[in-house]
Amino acid sequence: MTFSDLGLRPELLAGLATLGYEEPTPIQREAIPLLLAGRDLIGQAATGTGKTAAFALPILQLIPERGGRAETIALVLVPTRELAVQVSEAIYKYGRDLGARVVPIYGGQPITRQLQQLSQGVHVVVATPGRAMDHIKRGTLPLGGIKIVVLDEADEMLDMGFAEDIEEILKSTPDDRQTVMFSATVPPRINGIAKRHLHDPLKIQIGLGDTKPGKVLVRQTAYIVQRSHKAAALGRILDMEAPTAAIVFCRTRTEVDQLTETMNGRGYRAESLHGGLTQESRDKVMGRLRAGTTELLVATDVAARGLDIDQLSHVVNYDVPSAPESYVHRIGRVGRAGREGVAITLAEAREQRLLANIERLTKQKISIEKVPSVADLRARQIELTVETLREALSSDDLEDYAAVLDALDGEFDERTIALAAIKLAHAASGATIDEQEIPDASQRSDRDGFKKRDGKPASGGWEPRDRGAARGSDRGGSDRPARGGTDRTGPRAGGGFAGGEPGRLFIGAGRKDGIRPGDLVGAIANETDLSGSEIGPIRVSENFSVVGVPEDAVEHVIRALKQTTIKGKKATVRRYTE
Ligand code: ADP
Ligand code: MG
Repeated sequence: MTFSDLGLRPELLAGLATLGYEEPTPIQREAIPLLLAGRDLIGQAATGTGKTAAFALPILQLIPERGGRAETIALVLVPTRELAVQVSEAIYKYGRDLGARVVPIYGGQPITRQLQQLSQGVHVVVATPGRAMDHIKRGTLPLGGIKIVVLDEADEMLDMGFAEDIEEILKSTPDDRQTVMFSATVPPRINGIAKRHLHDPLKIQIGLGDTKPGKVLVRQTAYIVQRSHKAAALGRILDMEAPTAAIVFCRTRTEVDQLTETMNGRGYRAESLHGGLTQESRDKVMGRLRAGTTELLVATDVAARGLDIDQLSHVVNYDVPSAPESYVHRIGRVGRAGREGVAITLAEAREQRLLANIERLTKQKISIEKVPSVADLRARQIELTVETLREALSSDDLEDYAAVLDALDGEFDERTIALAAIKLAHAASGATIDEQEIPDASQRSDRDGFKKRDGKPASGGWEPRDRGAARGSDRGGSDRPARGGTDRTGPRAGGGFAGGEPGRLFIGAGRKDGIRPGDLVGAIANETDLSGSEIGPIRVSENFSVVGVPEDAVEHVIRALKQTTIKGKKATVRRYTE
């Protein structure tokens, strides 16, 4: 099937051909005809499956022929500023031959600039819900002509506390509009919104194992290492892999900052990306990554959600994500559009079961490899230095350096001089040799009985009973036994609400401090290993806020929040009692 089979107008087909899109992805194949037919839709598909074009092309199909003032016909809501920019760039790109006018609208950017752009007339507005509401209240976002509203990353927007804004926005747009939701997951709250605001919606779900744009070219590997050796192991693995650009996912802000420092110490140009940074510095970081100045982006999931970065060659999971979906979303950032990509996961011995879960769900193999040895690394570095020298040998300005050779002539023989020069070249490449071997934790666990004889991870009660007691003490003094499957850095074990009532936290900051639900979700998700969907319900009052988190995470979250600021301020955090 080709794009022209989908019934798209010629200008769009020309644009897609220029972009090198050969055929529609599964979600595009399914969604585009339905949207062109005017249906409402709920689409579920993993990151990297081409959702943007799936809604952008049908929007662009509606844009009138050139001429006249642009009327706003489509509103796309996205959770973050970065996505607003990315999605509006994508729509602009797809609609270039139509002269489509697209603007991103988000908080943090001077409103005057946005007002100016809106007043000049735009076809498509891509906005974060909060800023869209601001404009709607001011009457500066014309909604009367809206034909289609898209909620991109709908689950994430709800997790960030935008539910009210979204309801409000949907109510303010014409009733006969078309409504489209794209979401990685479809929790009940999404169905709630769909019931209230979508007309007879169709549901499309693209499975996790299904194909991505172009061929799937992601090499998936995992290394089993002890926690204390992780940073060194990562350094060595990356030295071997020599990525063009990589993103490394960590669970918490603190971990992000520490790892960034370590990797910088190892000669990588690494930068942090997390919710604790100002928008301005986040923009700068993204700019440097796209420009190739930064090689490693160390980030939390929340901060990097949905980002599509062309240059990425490697995605690294510094821990095994406990939800397989989150693994799929992370690695969806490489191997896009037929480019080759590598996904690397560092796992502790006890996390091997999570890897097996992921393999089962994705129906793809993750090959377990050995951390490169000191000898491997030396061999690789020599290889790289030989390559560098070969290149230098083929340059035509070698004679320019003859004076140096002449100066040393007679004092040393040429071989010795060559070796000294090689030494310098080798050092200049930033090659570090760490002499310490990094033990392979999967071997160790084998002896300890973590693995069965056949080499497969033990299933079921994966933690041998006789080790259970000892484990409590290295888990920060928690007396809770670890539950199967999930293993986290904090004292908390197990995830989700597990059926019980959520625990509640009192946070001594509220509306008067400028707190919005999203700030609280952001702060908690960044400081702990909780995901947005585990946080809530949230109530923000004038002077304080109350936030639900899984009962067994309450203490851990309190500790984490005490060490950080919310909206730049220290706030009281304690368990909430009526
Ligand atoms: P999602 O929103 O599902 O995460 P995106 O819309 O960001 O995915 O698309 C992921 C990448 O795939 C982008 O780089 C995009 O340019 C590319 N892409 C999308 N559709 C196609 C296609 N039909 N053929 C080739 N590449 C595509
Ligand atoms: Mg997307």
